[in-house]
Amino acid sequence: MPFASLGLSPSLTTPLARLGYATPTPVQVKSIPIVLTGGDLLAKAQTGTGKTAAFGLPMIDRLLVRGGAPAGMRKPRGLVLVPTRELALQVHKSLATYGVPANLRVTAIFGGVSIVPQKRELDRGTDIIVATPGRLLDHIEQRTIDLSAISILTLDEADRMLDMGFLPPLRRILKVLPRERQTLLFSATISPEVVKLSADFTREPQRVDVSEGQTMAVTVTHRVHPVTDQRKGDLLTHVLQETPGTQALVFCRTKHGSNRVGQYLGRAGIGAAVIHGNKSQGARTRALADFKEGRVTVLVATDIAARGLDIPQLPLVVNFDLPLVPEDYIHRAGRTGRAGVAGRAVSLVSAADKDLLRGIQRLLPAPIEHVAIENFATSASSQDALPTPGRRHQGGRQSRGVGGGHRHGGGGHRHAPGGRPQRGGSFRPRRSGPSRRSA
Ligand code: AMP
Repeated sequence: MPFASLGLSPSLTTPLARLGYATPTPVQVKSIPIVLTGGDLLAKAQTGTGKTAAFGLPMIDRLLVRGGAPAGMRKPRGLVLVPTRELALQVHKSLATYGVPANLRVTAIFGGVSIVPQKRELDRGTDIIVATPGRLLDHIEQRTIDLSAISILTLDEADRMLDMGFLPPLRRILKVLPRERQTLLFSATISPEVVKLSADFTREPQRVDVSEGQTMAVTVTHRVHPVTDQRKGDLLTHVLQETPGTQALVFCRTKHGSNRVGQYLGRAGIGAAVIHGNKSQGARTRALADFKEGRVTVLVATDIAARGLDIPQLPLVVNFDLPLVPEDYIHRAGRTGRAGVAGRAVSLVSAADKDLLRGIQRLLPAPIEHVAIENFATSASSQDALPTPGRRHQGGRQSRGVGGGHRHGGGGHRHAPGGRPQRGGSFRPRRSGPSRRSA
């Protein structure tokens, strides 16, 4: 099906071919006609499915091409709320690209940077604002933004915004928006909380679900390597060195853990950038640019910092730590295997990860491959404790018990990468269970 048949204006669809968009993705096929009719929408779709164009193209079409607003009005008429700065930048870039034929002005509003240039940009006038909730509220409170003409609101990654505790700011933002508007809500998961949010924010939304039982691109292969916590650093190095020069995104659960893994890789001679919520916006942007432009091959990240990263053709995602929430695995693995390109998701799992792994397996359409790597696998006891998903059990080479099958009490504690004992042969435990907000 060509883009033109979705009802979009030709001026918007013609340049898409140059972006390599030959045909619309499933979420675009289903969502674009609904948005064009002016109806509210509740869509279940992950990053990587083409959801930005699914809401962005018809938003631009309705607001600018079909117009209705007086020429030169430049009061923002579209608002896209996103959970993270990175996603704000990503969505801003996509909308700016899609909006070139319509002479779209789009402004990104997010924290961690000076508010002054944002105020200046808003003063100059803009058509669509892409914002994180906290900084948008700052502008509302300082009366530096006028949202009285917003006629289309999109909540992007709504589940993540709720996870990050953004419900109160969202409610406060809602109060200053016109009641007469179109609202689009996109979420990777539709939990009861998301349904409640949708009930409060939308009116009789039409529902779109592109997951249809499958929550993951089929182009991604999933594999776990059993390992003790002590040897995860070594195994990570091994996995990265199996295919030298391959770009990899490595996920850790905590900021502290990301720093440690980054340092560990540095000592092992593997250049890695680290990105997490404690880094300044400048440092985050630099790390991402270094990675995207190939100056470093490895990016170590926490879930929240990695949200919204769109790195075309990323071949490998490594879970140094499994995520505490199974759906986060889908987001992580969704960074690879995008737009039909093959990708690998590799997880380093210890015996304590058994339950987390089981939760993840339930979300995947096929069994995760279980591959024991010689010299790294856990001892027989901890390996037994791992679930053996499906029949595609591989890697008959049993471990030699390096690391001694150490078990620990779970709860988010992990040990130093590479298992370097610190003081008296024990390991310095990390802080346990960071709030998801702070990652
Ligand atoms: P998104 O889910 O919006 O983050 O998009 C994921 C990636 O798919 C981005 O790199 C987009 O540029 C790309 N993309 C979006 N729509 C299409 C399409 N119809 N054909 C090919 N690539 C697309």
